[in-house]
Amino acid sequence: MVRWCGGAVKGGTRRVLASFATLALAACGPRSYGPRVVVPPAPPPPPVVDVRPVAVTPVLVVPVEPEPSPAPFTGYDADDILALDPDECRAVLADWGVTWETADDAPETIEDPIRLTGPAGGVRFRVPGEDVAPHDVIDCRFAVALAEWGAQLHERGVVEVDAFGFWRGGHRVGSHVRDEPTQHNYGLAIDAAYFVLEDDSKLVVLSDWEISGGEDWTCDATPEGDAAALLLDFFCAPAEASIFHVYIGPAHDAEHHNHFHFDLGGGGEGGWFLN
Ligand SMILES: [Zn+2]
Repeated sequence: MVRWCGGAVKGGTRRVLASFATLALAACGPRSYGPRVVVPPAPPPPPVVDVRPVAVTPVLVVPVEPEPSPAPFTGYDADDILALDPDECRAVLADWGVTWETADDAPETIEDPIRLTGPAGGVRFRVPGEDVAPHDVIDCRFAVALAEWGAQLHERGVVEVDAFGFWRGGHRVGSHVRDEPTQHNYGLAIDAAYFVLEDDSKLVVLSDWEISGGEDWTCDATPEGDAAALLLDFFCAPAEASIFHVYIGPAHDAEHHNHFHFDLGGGGEGGWFLN
């Protein structure tokens, strides 16, 4: 019996159908009952890689110096600052990025006269108005003190301090004439009257200095209101860091009702005066 496409043919008809069966078997093909297997297409041939060596231009690697950390604007107290000679003083200002120019029109009483040409400690110190020279001249050492105070003020949101002046000749303090010339005479003092903040608002010593108490020690006073609190902080922060020798504010006398007088070298032997 010959099986073909699942059927059977008896021997009697074998010969008759032999050639047909052969053809039929070829036509039926093999049986398949399993799952259909899908053969994935062959992957494309790998790209031809050019393995010839490529000429590499050598790159000159220049070592990068780490950025110097910002100048600290600190480290000198009033005694240290006053002891700086002109070369040392100018080196400190250069270190701190404080720019200045020599003041050729300065009074002879100023040992190393300069004018600031940019911010000191992030704060501009100005003597507003026209024809203010030489009231805008300071000794180099006073610029160091201003830079330290400026850094404190900058942290507290101040961008500018307006002063009645730095240099002032003679012995006069307001209506009072002293035996000794004031430190203004040496370019070592400031009369600071206005503080300009980041939002362009301005604190005025004359009108915003509202405090109570503190008769013995100004920095023990209680400020009345936010503006007074800021002004008291501006006044006491440099005292705490001993940046200047003398601190006189409105609590001291009527002559100082509208400004803070800070100086280097004043105040007699001890050099400290705060009120
Ligand atoms: Zn003064």
